[in-house]
Amino acid sequence: MATLLKGLQCTPSPVRLATCGSLQVLEHARSVTFPWAFPLQAPSRIVRVLDARRFSAGRSGGRLVIVRAEANGGEEVGKGERFTVTTPLYYVNAAPHMGSAYPTIAADALARFHRLQGRDVNFITGTDEHGEKIALAAAAKGRAPKEHCDAVAAEYQLLWKELGIAYDKFIRTTDGDHEVLVAEFYKRVEEKGDIYQAKYEGLYCINCEEYKDEDELLEDLCCPIHRKPCEARKEDNYFFALSKYQQPLEDLLSSNPDFVRPSFRMNEVKGWVKEGLRDFSISRAAVEWGIPVPTDPKQTIYVWFDALLGYISALLAEGKEPNLANATARGWPASVHIIGKDILRFHAVYWPAMLMSAGLPLPEAVFGHGFLTKDGLKMGKSLGNTIEPRDLVSRFGPDAVRYYFLKETEFGKDGDFSEGRFIDIINAHLANTIGNLLNRTLGLLKKNCDATIPSDSISIPEDNSMRVLATESVNKAVAHYSELDFSSACELILGIAHAGNLYMNDKAPWSLFKQGGSAAEDAAQDLTVILEAVRIMAVALSPVVPELCSRIYSQLGYTEADFKSISWEDTRWGGLKRGQVMADAQPIFQRLEDPNAPEVQNSPAKSGGKKNEGKKKKSSVKQKADSAIANASAS
Ligand SMILES: [Zn+2]
Repeated sequence: MATLLKGLQCTPSPVRLATCGSLQVLEHARSVTFPWAFPLQAPSRIVRVLDARRFSAGRSGGRLVIVRAEANGGEEVGKGERFTVTTPLYYVNAAPHMGSAYPTIAADALARFHRLQGRDVNFITGTDEHGEKIALAAAAKGRAPKEHCDAVAAEYQLLWKELGIAYDKFIRTTDGDHEVLVAEFYKRVEEKGDIYQAKYEGLYCINCEEYKDEDELLEDLCCPIHRKPCEARKEDNYFFALSKYQQPLEDLLSSNPDFVRPSFRMNEVKGWVKEGLRDFSISRAAVEWGIPVPTDPKQTIYVWFDALLGYISALLAEGKEPNLANATARGWPASVHIIGKDILRFHAVYWPAMLMSAGLPLPEAVFGHGFLTKDGLKMGKSLGNTIEPRDLVSRFGPDAVRYYFLKETEFGKDGDFSEGRFIDIINAHLANTIGNLLNRTLGLLKKNCDATIPSDSISIPEDNSMRVLATESVNKAVAHYSELDFSSACELILGIAHAGNLYMNDKAPWSLFKQGGSAAEDAAQDLTVILEAVRIMAVALSPVVPELCSRIYSQLGYTEADFKSISWEDTRWGGLKRGQVMADAQPIFQRLEDPNAPEVQNSPAKSGGKKNEGKKKKSSVKQKADSAIANASAS
């Protein structure tokens, strides 16, 4: 028995609400599910609220929701739980582009966050490799389909490596085990009586791999997405009885307001369902490159009916007999499918109906992200304004790319990329705000304290402004990460570095050291405060920029193994201990150079007075080094 209480799904019912100051605390709740991606499982009773936040989700809106809590015995809620996140399985008709890198970066940050929280994470990505469009793309290159798929899948794997994507499984829909599972799934749905044979005659878009209604097409029967004419086709196909699931889908969407995220996409999905669901064809007579229909090998299974199962076959443990029971035993249902808004209908309407038919649990949520534009324009090969992710990574490194897209785009909405802005943001946030803070603090510590932490950071008073801010910021960041609001999480964590710089300027430890005595002791404590705040920041920001945070950790005198074993617990104040020796200060992030920026004439040419054209790059490197030194020694 469960009850829905201001957006919280609580078991058992009724639960008791206690008021604790301005917080509402749920007592006697055995399980509390909210936010949608962050189920809290309290074994007995939630005794301490670690963080709470306002929310406005659900029909009634709400006041306050527990997002992080401790159960009896001090064991943190949520530890050891399974968390399964998937990216779309990318269609291998062409090489990977920024549109595929983007949700994968987000899924990776989410997976890293949940791992830090102690969850047992399954992070799934991969490629969707069947269908007519792929056969055609292979033929155009004079390759066999499988050869083509191998080549493109390898490109994806290479890009993921370059972007620092730490997936648990890369599934390919041409894997043998996957094909076995699809056949089993098909048979289950057929046994349910949800598959029938019928003639189909209609207009088909090869790029969508979908029949279209004439009234949704543009002039000359063009597909509204691909702007290419659809062809008239007539086939004898197998159909899935989607219409049987009209009521169950309506019930799902109304009883589970967080099934489709962000909430504005839910309205779109409800609209489609309300229009009335129609059965769709799940086989193709004319497509050879696909999984054969088990009962009629002359036909192949429709690419979507095949690809969606990839999320389940990815969970099959190595060496296990390929069947649905074995695959779903491990991490199914998915906690969240991250997808592009263009494939929302397949994930939020077709997929749950297919799963209901096969008697399998539904994913907990589907998150539809927005599209990227470049310089305010829609990207396209024909316009020649695509963003090439490999090019960006090779020029600027993975952290810069990850940070920009997660920080500067509200995940879920459309976002824009412009190289000038990219460089400005990265330099301002990563090189200046974070990098310089660490650099100047370490410089002072070396000069005055032999690069050694003078006192335990835990002894810093609890009301120290930096300690308060760092603690509050990371606690709030938990809720943002859980809700895939990476931008707000970054903003909060970056705020710690901003405050650290102000704290440094305000306290001016360099002048206190000169005074000696107790003033010098205060200065030493100020440096401990800042370095502890930077350490906490490195843990909290590591889901977004893992390499940068690893470099921060090593500057703070930790080993690589120390960094690899961090958990979210390490965001608690008190990690840096007296006697810890810092490494030599080195810039943790090299400023990016903008090849298109107008040259800054910051110092007149010393000799000759000749304009130093052609030496632009050299002079800006020199300038960078000068400013780094100035920053270190001003302190
Ligand atoms: Zn189309």
